[in-house]
Amino acid sequence: MYKCTLCSVLACSEENPDIIPKNCPMHGETLMEDCFLEYERDDNRNFHVKSTEIEAAGYGQWPRIREIIEFSKEMNYKKIGIAFCLGLHKEAKIVDRLLEEAGFETVSVICKTGGIPKERIGISDQKKVRPGTFETICNPIAQAKLLNEQHTDFNIVVGLCVGHDSIFYKYSEAMVTTLIAKDRVLAHNPAGALYCSEGYFKSKVSDCK
Ligand code: SF4
Repeated sequence: MYKCTLCSVLACSEENPDIIPKNCPMHGETLMEDCFLEYERDDNRNFHVKSTEIEAAGYGQWPRIREIIEFSKEMNYKKIGIAFCLGLHKEAKIVDRLLEEAGFETVSVICKTGGIPKERIGISDQKKVRPGTFETICNPIAQAKLLNEQHTDFNIVVGLCVGHDSIFYKYSEAMVTTLIAKDRVLAHNPAGALYCSEGYFKSKVSDCK
């Protein structure tokens, strides 16, 4: 069982490591070589190289939105899709403006597109956010398909829910990056719960005793 989370050796970051932990995934040399061959594929090579270059170009200087813009320029993307959550409508509008100012054509689709009532997928009234009210499903498959139909070069996720984001990734034909990972409690800063997971947030991060 691989447990890089618990490793204190970090031989993978060294040029000539003296020791490699017993359960280190790097012992699987064939798999590592197979992965390397994947990076060499035409559909991966440039994408991987440019991502690696952008990481260094703005290291510690560029916020993520700028990294996305600079990466998209480097990739010569023309049309960018924005798949966003209704709850982040304002933020998505800002993303749209920044991308347009940077010279991209944009297409944006909100999560609630389709207006399908939750009852249609079998959600009971008690399991709604606000029981007794009309609520529509998030529709990440439609978001992906609408962006696919527009032939976007690259798609950006702005605050899709846990799981809905996964479905979007599954159906998007263009590569996807996430600008905002939704966290309704922490102003979309999920790492905040981890920083406080042994203190103020202990009872909020898990119901395990
Ligand atoms: S890859 Fe190996 S050396 Fe690197 S963190 Fe995982 S176990 Fe440790």
